[in-house]
Order: sequence, then C-alpha cells, then structure tokens
Amino acid sequence: MSGAAVGLALAGSLADPFAARGSVPAGDDPFSLGVASGDPLPDAVVIWTRLAPRPLEPFGGMERKKFPVTWIVAEDEGFRRPVARGTALAYPEHAHAVHVDVTGLRPAREYFYRFAAGPHLSPVGRTKTAPAPLSALSAFAFAFASCQNYPSGFYTAYRHMADEDLDVVVHLGDYIYEGGAQGSLGRGHLPAREVFSLDDYRIRTAQHKSDPDLQRVHARHPWIVTWDDHEVDNNYADEVPGGNDQTSDEFLVRRANAYRAYWEHMPLRRALMPTGPDMPLYRRLTFGDLVELNVLDTRQYRSDQDLSRRSDPSRSITGDEQERWLLDGLAASRATWNVLAQQVFFCQRDLQAGSGERWNVDAWDGYVASRDRITSGLVERAVANPIVLTGDVHQNYAADIKSNFDDPDSATIGSEFVGTSISSGGDGSPTSPAGLAQLEENPHLKYYNRQRGYVRCRLTPGQWRADYRIVPYVTREGAPIHTDASFVVEAGRPGLQPA
Ligand code: FE
Ligand code: CA
Repeated sequence: MSGAAVGLALAGSLADPFAARGSVPAGDDPFSLGVASGDPLPDAVVIWTRLAPRPLEPFGGMERKKFPVTWIVAEDEGFRRPVARGTALAYPEHAHAVHVDVTGLRPAREYFYRFAAGPHLSPVGRTKTAPAPLSALSAFAFAFASCQNYPSGFYTAYRHMADEDLDVVVHLGDYIYEGGAQGSLGRGHLPAREVFSLDDYRIRTAQHKSDPDLQRVHARHPWIVTWDDHEVDNNYADEVPGGNDQTSDEFLVRRANAYRAYWEHMPLRRALMPTGPDMPLYRRLTFGDLVELNVLDTRQYRSDQDLSRRSDPSRSITGDEQERWLLDGLAASRATWNVLAQQVFFCQRDLQAGSGERWNVDAWDGYVASRDRITSGLVERAVANPIVLTGDVHQNYAADIKSNFDDPDSATIGSEFVGTSISSGGDGSPTSPAGLAQLEENPHLKYYNRQRGYVRCRLTPGQWRADYRIVPYVTREGAPIHTDASFVVEAGRPGLQPA
C-alpha cells in the first residue's frame, strides 16, 4: 500500500494527475464528519472519512465531481514513523465518502491515520489491528452500544467510551432513526420528516455523525458495526416494510437508499458495498485464539413477523444461508469465546406476569424454531463458551441461555448480555415495575436496568467480565459515568456469576 506518488497535501499542492478533478477550496472544512476506522484484521484496517463541508445539504455542499484525498498511516501520533500512504478518490456517487482498506500492517499494533484534501487536514484517528491468527492472546477489551436516537438525548456515553482502554467498539444497530421526531433538546431530526430518499438518508446519517462525542469515539477506537431496523424502517423484515405505507417494490427502493447511505458512512470494506437493495453485512472477525465475533444481520433475510406462526420451523430470523454460515463457522472456531454480535433479544422473555404469555415477535421470541436451531447447534457442535450480544430494547439485561427456557433446571448453554441505548428513550430510570416483573417471570434473566450507556467487556482466557456502564441522564450534557452492575462468566463453566 505504498502508492507514494502523491504525498500528503501538507504543502497545499497536489500532483498533476488530479488537475482535471475538483479541488477543495480553502475556508470550507471538508472534514466536518470526522474520521473512523473499522473491521480490523491482523494485517489491515479500513479507514474512513467523507468530504462534506456542509453535511446537512445534498452532497454535503460538494461539487458533483471527484476529489483526490490523500491519506497516511503511521506508528506515532506525530506521523514521524509513517508505514503507509496513498491517494484515494472521493466520488460524488458515494457522497464523497472515502474507504481505504489499508493493508500490509503488523498484527496487534496501534496506528494513527489522517486524511488531507486540498489545504485541509482531517482530525487524527487512532486504530489497532487484530492479533495474528490463533496467536495466544491474554486479554481483549471492547464496548458494545446501540440505539442512538438523536433528538432523545446527548451522546455523553460516547464521550466516556472514547476514554476507555479498548481494542474495538461494536455497534449493534439503530445508528440512526428514520422518523421525523424533533424532541425538545434542540436536536430535532433533519430533514424534519421521515426519510425515504438517498439524499434524505445521507443527510440524516450526516446529522448523527456531526455529533462531537460520536466523532471522538470513532476517531479513538476501530468499530465493528451491524444494523438493526431503524437504519431503514421500524420493524421491517426483508422486503416487507414495517408499516403499510409502501408496496414491497417501493420498499426495496427505500432499502437500497438506506443501505447505500449506511455503507457510505461506515468504516466497512468495499466488498460489503450494496448492490441495489442487497448488502452482505454479516461477517466474522477473529482476535487471536481468544475471541471470534460472528456479526449477524437479523433484518435483511428474516421472515415477516407473525405471532400466530412464531414456532413455525419454516420461518427464520437469519435466513437459511446465514444460519448455515453461522453454524459452520462456530463448528470450525478455535477461539475460547464465541460471540454472536446481533440485534434483538435472544433469550425467551415472557412479558406477561403470571399466567398467560406475551411475546415480542420482532425478537427471537417471534422465531422460536430459528432460535432452537442455534441453541441445539451450539450444543451439538460443542461450541466453546457461547456469548450473545444484543441491543434493540433500550434496557440493560444479563441472561443465561437455557436449553429449555421453561425449565430453570435445564442446562445453561451460554450467556446473553443485552445493552441499553446510548440515547433512545431519554433519561430512563434505574428500574421499573415491568422490568422487575420480567425478572420474576423469567428466572434466567438476572439483571435489569433502564438507564443509558453501554457495556464494557474485558476478556481473558479464563474469564469474561461485563460491566454495565451508565450515565444518569442524557437530556442534559455532561453526565458522569459509573458501573451499575458487573457479571462474569468463567470459561468452561457456563452461566452468569456476580462479579
Ligand atoms: Fe432502538
Ligand atoms: Ca406469563
């Protein structure tokens, strides 16, 4: 990845090959959306930026031309020890986003990167490559988050996440919300309506990415992202919209717009770029011999929600192909910890206290046979230490995955950590009568909280520790953070234990 023909534009001039293309004028900072990195491999990482001097306008205020963007990766924050550099083109058809897959890097190394366009320099990002395949890894730390409804609250939790000592950040979806809510915090959604068009999804995503706390944590840690429903449309299922407002044909155009804006704004490889309404997002990332993340997509291939058919074995939340890929990968894994990083509540959760049952059919409870195929697949393949990570519900839970959720004495297969929202739902409260009733009704649920924050996980070969990090409010800025509860799982001994 040398491509050093064009150096950094520090001197304010660019070489001839780009003379016929657009040039970014002085006085109009094109790096208003910051920088990001993601999907670290042992020898590569994706670095991202987008030229958008006015991100809330169509095309970010850029001319409909392509622009050269130079980039550099170094071992030090002062860029005195550069290891790779090059020039990428920012294309108008991709909203002038730049995704560089920087290769030839060394494993388990911290790197720093930045971009330049015309006379402008981007902020500096820090990233880290994955350890060498199957190398003995003694520790790994990450945080996972979800649900950052912009009008609902400030992203103070992200400010604290940026200060954590982490290898990666995992985002489990609802990076944006598609509705037109305005809220009362001066953070009303733009455009001020539900979004459908490509321009609208770009502006909505850029609005979220203009948040300084979100930019800070993107610049500080590499991210591994997956989506849930609100990146497109609440509760959609494959080609079926969540509401009755569109035909499937119309909805697939909307989905194509949403997926494209998502890819454009995330540090994802080019191989994941959508083709029309299809985007291959599920994938696997491995960190030495310690942990393997199976990053799932439970939206794009799922059967439509249907309470009357929640146990129908022909229905699936993953689709057949992803399910096979997941089970095959779990069977082949040699990692100590095997993670499903995914969207919706995996464990059974009866929402009706006492007799009678009530299910969230948008979660795995609406796809019981699909869940059974995963849980029995974990047992049959003797998968080591399964852990499920979940977002969606804007509440914290910790749960044990049972071989039979209706029998508390049945075998515990693994554990599920459900993380609350960054901002969705507003301030929340430490607990609620409904939440306490759920713990009583579902004995495999061990913890409940409905404040905002994220979950920090610290892994060693012997133990997984999860810390539920909480901010007491998000409707004002400047909240402190604390750990509300911690749980551990010991390797080889399934089930949550108090830390
Ligand atoms: Fe959400
Ligand atoms: Ca019940």
